[in-house]
Amino acid sequence: MDDVRVIGGGPTGCLAAMEAAKRNLNVTVFEEHGSIGSRLKCSGIISKKGLDTLGVDYKKSILNEFRGTRIYSPSLNEMNVIAKDIKAFAIDRKEFDTRCADEAENAGARILLKKRAVRSDVTSKLLIGADGALSQVARWFSFPEMNEFAFCYQADFQNAAIEDKSLVSVFLSNKLFPGFFGWAIPLNESEARVGLGVFRDVRNGYTRSVKHYFDLFTKKHPIVSKILKKSKSENRLSAIIPLSTRDKTASGDVLLVGDAAGQVKATTGGGVVFGGNCAKLAGSLAPRIIERKDSSDYERSWKKKFGDDLRLHKKLRGFYNSLTDGQIDSYLSLAKKTGMERFLAKNGDMDSPTAMFNPAVSAAPLHAVMFKAFSAIISKT
Ligand SMILES: Cc1cc2nc3c(=O)[nH]c(=O)nc-3n(C[C@H](O)[C@H](O)[C@H](O)COP(=O)(O)OP(=O)(O)OC[C@H]3O[C@@H](n4cnc5c(N)ncnc54)[C@H](O)[C@@H]3O)c2cc1C
Repeated sequence: MDDVRVIGGGPTGCLAAMEAAKRNLNVTVFEEHGSIGSRLKCSGIISKKGLDTLGVDYKKSILNEFRGTRIYSPSLNEMNVIAKDIKAFAIDRKEFDTRCADEAENAGARILLKKRAVRSDVTSKLLIGADGALSQVARWFSFPEMNEFAFCYQADFQNAAIEDKSLVSVFLSNKLFPGFFGWAIPLNESEARVGLGVFRDVRNGYTRSVKHYFDLFTKKHPIVSKILKKSKSENRLSAIIPLSTRDKTASGDVLLVGDAAGQVKATTGGGVVFGGNCAKLAGSLAPRIIERKDSSDYERSWKKKFGDDLRLHKKLRGFYNSLTDGQIDSYLSLAKKTGMERFLAKNGDMDSPTAMFNPAVSAAPLHAVMFKAFSAIISKT
């Protein structure tokens, strides 16, 4: 009998398997596809700092390097957050996921490809569900539902008119991208990955298809339509990102990690760093969980380490989603006036917003924006 069976050979499944195998446990990963990373379901933007925490040699997967972000308000006012050094990468997810799988195998885990797990495969001492946003494992074991998602649509465009390949463009508007945002990511001098997400609470049913928003964005948006004027799209994808964590991620001898657990930043939808680190924690705790037959340590540990940041991402998403486009414009103008561009370039942290509230950081621009937000909330109540 396996000590640990991991369902899902994405990055989080492989990282959990790697840590458990390093601790001399018998580990098998089930991956339903015939190769690792065969389905592109990501934009691939990951902070350098976050990637460095995962313990995977990611150098070969780097497609492009970024110093910053150009944020466009609904009326196309620009806020440029540009650091002196490299802050993030666009990575090739197939290459990166394959590296994670190699690390798991090097540590002694077995990876079975073309092996779709079914309920009767649950025969190990510990089961780790790393099977993504629509986790079957969560359903088999009646974990609480996740209801809030970003429904996304994205494509890669050749021959794009890219001005500066070291900047990611982010587009804000609750009309064009209700509850999420749009992005244009240079992959090199002439190729851009363009997409958007729309917030959906699946308890409220469905509205327009996301492709409708994507077509408007790529064909009619004054900036993006110019960038893409001479381009052709490929690698189209439509996929979902969970924007809330499950209320419970450990029960008996079953753990959930990564998207299956909802360990994703609700602001940007980034899940590789938080999911990957929670998965590593799950793998490292596996021997103790098996010995004590108690998985609650996992839930406690990841919430202690990452819970504050994930909660703050969620609060920021909730606040942003309550704004009209006029309000987004006025917050962005205020942020620029109070020096937010320089503040974020120096102190911004894509993963850990709580780090910006460190008392050692002089956060006058943050305080000005928070004061305006607080006054707006009070005046509504
Ligand atoms: C459009 C889009 C853009 C994104 N952009 C970013 C970004 O820029 N940066 C970032 O950090 N994150 C981004 N994300 C999120 C990121 O892709 C996920 O957080 C990450 O892939 C989660 O990894 P995972 O291993 O938990 O799940 P997944 O990567 O979804 O892997 C799950 C694996 O489980 C397998 N599987 C499922 N069911 C079974 C079964 N029954 N048996 C066997 N195998 C099974 C699947 O085949 C898959 O390989 C984006 C997501 C989307 C949709």
